[in-house]
Order: sequence, then structure tokens, then C-alpha cells
Amino acid sequence: MKCASAEQPLTISVWDDLTGTEANLLKSWVGPALVVGFTSLKPSSHKGFSLSTTMSTSFHRNPVGDRADALRQWSREKRALVLSRMERIQEVRNPTEQNEVLSIESIKLKEVGNTLQDERHWIKITIPEPERSKIVTYIGCNNCGKRTEMDVGSSFACKFCSKEGCIAAPRITFKFDATDGTGDMTFTAFTQECEILFRMDASEIYDEIAAGIFKFEPIAHRLSTRPFLLQIAPGTALARNKILTWVPKAVRWN
Ligand SMILES: [Zn+2]
Repeated sequence: MKCASAEQPLTISVWDDLTGTEANLLKSWVGPALVVGFTSLKPSSHKGFSLSTTMSTSFHRNPVGDRADALRQWSREKRALVLSRMERIQEVRNPTEQNEVLSIESIKLKEVGNTLQDERHWIKITIPEPERSKIVTYIGCNNCGKRTEMDVGSSFACKFCSKEGCIAAPRITFKFDATDGTGDMTFTAFTQECEILFRMDASEIYDEIAAGIFKFEPIAHRLSTRPFLLQIAPGTALARNKILTWVPKAVRWN
């Protein structure tokens, strides 16, 4: 479910018993903006920032009080904004738009005000001058990618993602300037994208670099001459700080 908090929509995940009749009211929400209340939501950093219901959450179909009245008034006054936001959410959920290949020029025209955290776009790019020095290898959590001092393959409780049973694994980052003829953009690819870009798995890349036998030239040649598809999404700074950056989500060779 999406709701408007100030200008950027916010996702609230509704769990357990609240998914019954009350949530149906929200699911079928297509008409004018609804003003509803939730208590005891807990924040989550999933997809930037979102809220989630808890065991003690109650749902108010018709909240009373000054703040609810102020919000009702706001949604009446900002009706055009709320409607355009709802429309945009529908567009983003529609997968046909998400498969379209956009130009870097059109990505650069996107603004905080009309971009949603869930957006995904494909661009078709080359990396004219891939730099070997922009590849960083390290040992990190297989879940969140944060650095760890643990030995490769050992299982540990990661203090960054607070997930039990994380495994210390080779991780790769690669920063590059991409172009598609309409503009240039800088991205940092993480382990999974690097594996596809380099056509090697992370442990091979890590081991070869450590042993000094990594051959970047053929990879660089391919990256600079063969266009590939990069799926990008707004970085989590959008929901957190209203700053629009674009981060790679997937790579596909044609
Ligand atoms: Zn972690």
C-alpha cells in the first residue's frame, strides 16, 4: 500500500489480521484520497524507508482530531498533486513501462518530485573507458555487502544487516562512466552486476586479482564496444533525504 507523506509516497506493509476487511477498503482505493489512521507502525529500511504494521497496530477508518482534519484539508487543496501521485504509482506498477529502454538524457530529466522509489528503468550503454583501478575487491557479508574481518566461507551474525547466518564472501565493486550517445552517467556496480559485466564469478575475480593474474583488457574491450542493458533504480536517498541518484539493479547482455 502507498500513502503520501509530504511529497514522496511512503509504503506501509500491512500484516496479519489487518489484511482482512480493513485492508480491503484500502486495496480497492481508486477514488478520492482516503484519510485513515494507523497506530504503532514500525519503521523499516526496506527499499529506503517504509513502515510496517505490528501486533499492536490498530486501524482507524475515520480518524478524528486536528491532524486528521489538517490532512483532509491538505488532500482537498492538493487534489491535483495527490491524483498525479496515484497515477504515477499505477504507471510504476505497470510492467510494460518497466521494460522500455530509456535514454540517459530522459533519466537525467527525472526529478525528485516525479520519481518513485520503486521505479526501475533499463538503459542501453557502453563504458567507453573502463578503468582497472576502479575495481575494488574485499570480503563482506553475502547479504548486505558490508565489510567483515571474518574468513571467507565462515558464517557469522552480521551487525549491519542484523541477519543471523550471514556468510563472509568475496565482494566486488566497480565504478564506471557509462554513455548511450545521449549523455553520460556514473554508476557503481556491486557484486552481482560485476559478475555479469565481467562474466566471471565473484570468487574468481577476487582470487585472480589477489594473485595478480586478473586480465582486464578483454573485459574492458567488451565493455567499451558492446552495448549492454543496465537496469537502474533510484538510490535509497530518495525516500530518506529526497535526493535522486540512480543505482544499478541488474545487467543484461543482449
Ligand atoms: Zn550483513
